[in-house]
Amino acid sequence: MRICRFLLIASLFFATSAQAFTLGPSKWPQGDTTMYLGSLSGSSTSGTSWKDAYTEAATLWNNNTNFTFNLSNASVAACSESDLRNYMAFRGDVCGDAWGDSTLAVTITYSFNSTPSATAKTDILFNDTLNWDVYHGPVLPAAHDFRRVTVHELGHALGLDHETTATAIMAPFEGSIEAPTSNDLAGVAALYGAPSGGGNALAPIKIELETPRAGEVLSGIANFQGWVVSSAAIQKVELFVDSKLIGNIPFGGVRDDVRDAWPQYPNAANAGFSMAYAYSSFTPGTHTALVRAYDVNGNIQEASATFTTVEFNNTLFFSDPNKINLRNATAVFPPAENPGYQMIIDNAVVDGKAYAILLVWSTATQNFEIHTITPK
Ligand SMILES: [Zn+2]
Repeated sequence: MRICRFLLIASLFFATSAQAFTLGPSKWPQGDTTMYLGSLSGSSTSGTSWKDAYTEAATLWNNNTNFTFNLSNASVAACSESDLRNYMAFRGDVCGDAWGDSTLAVTITYSFNSTPSATAKTDILFNDTLNWDVYHGPVLPAAHDFRRVTVHELGHALGLDHETTATAIMAPFEGSIEAPTSNDLAGVAALYGAPSGGGNALAPIKIELETPRAGEVLSGIANFQGWVVSSAAIQKVELFVDSKLIGNIPFGGVRDDVRDAWPQYPNAANAGFSMAYAYSSFTPGTHTALVRAYDVNGNIQEASATFTTVEFNNTLFFSDPNKINLRNATAVFPPAENPGYQMIIDNAVVDGKAYAILLVWSTATQNFEIHTITPK
């Protein structure tokens, strides 16, 4: 879905020169502003509060640019043209106007008539008629990821417009990018100057577990996989399931998407880790996977996820492919409002029983993988 409309009110437009990034028509005259989060109370279904997710999004910009978003828990006037404090809120309307069909959020920039136009305030509104959550990984059909949409909207608040050619969080449509890319950061550097050292305050290690994701249902042979970046060389990545050490996961796989999302880390282009494993060897039910990365400087970082294993008809392994019969199955393709990289094989018969099988494209393995098995 389209992330947002980019509204500009009371501004003087001026032409921008051709650059690799796309600048909006307005920027802050100073290097910081305060975002008021008083209206963002509550938490996502996965447990992260909206304020915490917002703070993480703002930190991604603060740590890697010369601009600072200060955050306040105070409440400010909604939809006010006279209160110049920045208003953040979920709303069922766009301050009196209806949401567009597929609009996730709006950044409304108020600016003074000057050359170049000076931003006076930016209100960010999130479409409360849609489902939201906070998660990493591919965009899920059930809910939009509030954190990455906030990163995008804060890019508008900084003065960036949509970027349609390069890999960027400022792409007009939601996707797998979750953080500012080198392209986005170059745009902010053009507006506010380049940060010394290309950024600061990076965590020594960042590690993401992509398979299994939290709540994911797995079966058969699948991977434990994700990515890890570090300011120093990675020494090892350990895998634990239900607190038992399974072994070390091979790492160093090519991940162009991680390189683009985290250009500040030296090893980001080879950040992938992956190990195939027979999930069917775990008893059907709920388990917790934990990956722990060590770098040569002695830093340690972990990521974990609770997942569920399921089996077709309680069978661990099918050596006879003739037990799978798709002759009477139908393919269900995603409607326009859902991500396009998934499909359902309905009425697949496996060992005499019918299932609906959800296949989802995995960026990490570059394959369609079974995501959910639902008995019919
Ligand atoms: Zn946008």
